[in-house]
Amino acid sequence: MSEPIIGIDLGTTNSEVAVVRDGKPHVFEEGGDPILPSFVGLAEDGKLLVGHAARNQWVVAPERTVKSIKRKMGQDVKVKLGDQEYRPQEISAMILRALKERASAQLGQAVKKAVITVPADFNDDQRNATREAGELAGLEVVRILNEPTAASLTYDPKSSELQRILVYDLGGGTFDVSIVQAQEGVIEVLSSHGDTQLGGDDFDELLFKHVVLQFQTQHGIDLGANVYARARLLRAVEAAKRQLSFHAFIRLEEEFIAEKDGQALHLQMEITRLEYEELIQPLLTRTMDCVQRALEDAKLLPAALDKVVLVGGSTRTPLVSRLLEERLGQAAHQEVNPDLCVAMGAGIQAALIEGQDVGAVLVDITPHSLGIRCLDYMHGIDFPFRFAPIIRRNTALPGSRSEMFSTVHDNQKEVEIEVYQGENDDVRFNHRIGNFRITGLANVAAGNQLVVQCDLNLDGILKVSAKEKATGLKKDVTIENALAHFEGSEIAGARERLDRLWDQSTTAEEGDFDEIDDEEEMDDEQPYPNEFASEVPVLVPGPREGQRETVQARALLEKAERLLEKVAPEDKIELERMLNAVRHAVTDRQWENVTKACNELSDILFYLEDA
Ligand code: ADP
Ligand code: MG
Repeated sequence: MSEPIIGIDLGTTNSEVAVVRDGKPHVFEEGGDPILPSFVGLAEDGKLLVGHAARNQWVVAPERTVKSIKRKMGQDVKVKLGDQEYRPQEISAMILRALKERASAQLGQAVKKAVITVPADFNDDQRNATREAGELAGLEVVRILNEPTAASLTYDPKSSELQRILVYDLGGGTFDVSIVQAQEGVIEVLSSHGDTQLGGDDFDELLFKHVVLQFQTQHGIDLGANVYARARLLRAVEAAKRQLSFHAFIRLEEEFIAEKDGQALHLQMEITRLEYEELIQPLLTRTMDCVQRALEDAKLLPAALDKVVLVGGSTRTPLVSRLLEERLGQAAHQEVNPDLCVAMGAGIQAALIEGQDVGAVLVDITPHSLGIRCLDYMHGIDFPFRFAPIIRRNTALPGSRSEMFSTVHDNQKEVEIEVYQGENDDVRFNHRIGNFRITGLANVAAGNQLVVQCDLNLDGILKVSAKEKATGLKKDVTIENALAHFEGSEIAGARERLDRLWDQSTTAEEGDFDEIDDEEEMDDEQPYPNEFASEVPVLVPGPREGQRETVQARALLEKAERLLEKVAPEDKIELERMLNAVRHAVTDRQWENVTKACNELSDILFYLEDA
């Protein structure tokens, strides 16, 4: 490489730098981490901090730390850092400089040129400020590239066919959706919408409030009031949030988070993905409205999109792809690491300018969804063949995901886990690749929770485990060939077999299964043993109990808290008593009491609001 050009994603929350090597994008790491948090700060001794160190001190020393400077780019303002004031491009220059040095150190040569990405809706002032930041960092900015364009480059750098791609980018503090049109290497942004005040930080804040409220109910202490407790908790909930993208529930544990009557208090709390997703759903719904507007502006119907691409760390939350798929009718791609996608695209653009030949970013993915059979009684009738995907198709490998399920019957002692590969909602159209039974479950009411986890490695070896949440009782199975494709004819065969089964189901005896059992089946077992008179003890998806009640209680509490400040003193005491009754019922998981307490609270709210 004579005169290397680097590609930089200068993000609101995180930044990265990449180049293309041997035809493939490569993101430079430091200490094993490709991400440089976009934070700039001064240490106590006045030393300049960029990245993680600055991020770590932000909550406790905000006066010495600058965050989200990208929001101010192009404005005629100054920010304070210690006793000095800086223009936004000067702060950005410090981040760019750190990235430039990271790249030069690893390339073993000086770097002078860069491609830098910006949001599609950045105006001229914002673009110029970005260019200037590059120059201040000692970089010649050879191109300012739109972020969605960069992202689409990673999926197909030189597609000859016309492609329309929707890029949904949900980062730490901002949301953008763009529709780009690509053909013969020319990429045009057709439309772009967004919300500059919506992102992962807001999700952290919601989860933070949720935890603070629960802790307050339990111990009567406001963790938000102490700056150090707040800092610790914010970091803990951010980490918890990330884990919830892959796991159905997590345990949040922080020792010595507070003190009461001279005694140390520890934080121990369980958070399910469902609870978390309920918290953020209203914000995600807002992003879906932007998606709608972007489509309208581009004058396109969802069906005209060739691809939907997810970018930004926050798109790892499974609810994002679920809502998008519902809205757009196609599965979104996220096989190129959403955190690094834009930086890789910038690296690809840099390489194209250099005249290098670049291929698409190939990653190993699972071509089929993997999941288990369960019972669905959400729609009024029992349907015992619902496919519940756990690792969805196009997930990058190795991949690990878990989902929560619950028992159907009181005192259900055992559960059969049947593992399927495929995309149909009905498992009978998918491919059964394994099964096992977990026995000896606790003698408890229906709704006993089990976490089913799938771990899939690069060689296609799939480990499926089921764990009773309350006791830790666990069983698993290893399936060797989970990535093997099954042929189209097999699907057709399965469909035909099923049609015949339906026809015969009223009269079928067990023996009938033999003659219609096709020879191409994979197992020595019968494909669908006894299923029409199913006694197989299956699970239902999700944690069943208390969902509706918790949601109702949360909404009411919020409303009541707002009113609390405005009401007369005698009403306030009564209102507080009722608030506490609701909180206690939720903490004690006494769902009937929750409903009762909510009804009482809702009555008094009605009266107070009118007064
Ligand atoms: P930006 O482009 O705004 O600089 P990023 O695309 O790097 O930001 O996204 C950062 C956000 O992504 C942060 O809020 C971070 O908490 C969130 N994030 C990162 N990993 C995950 C994950 N596994 N699940 C959910 N959110 C995540
Ligand atoms: Mg970004």
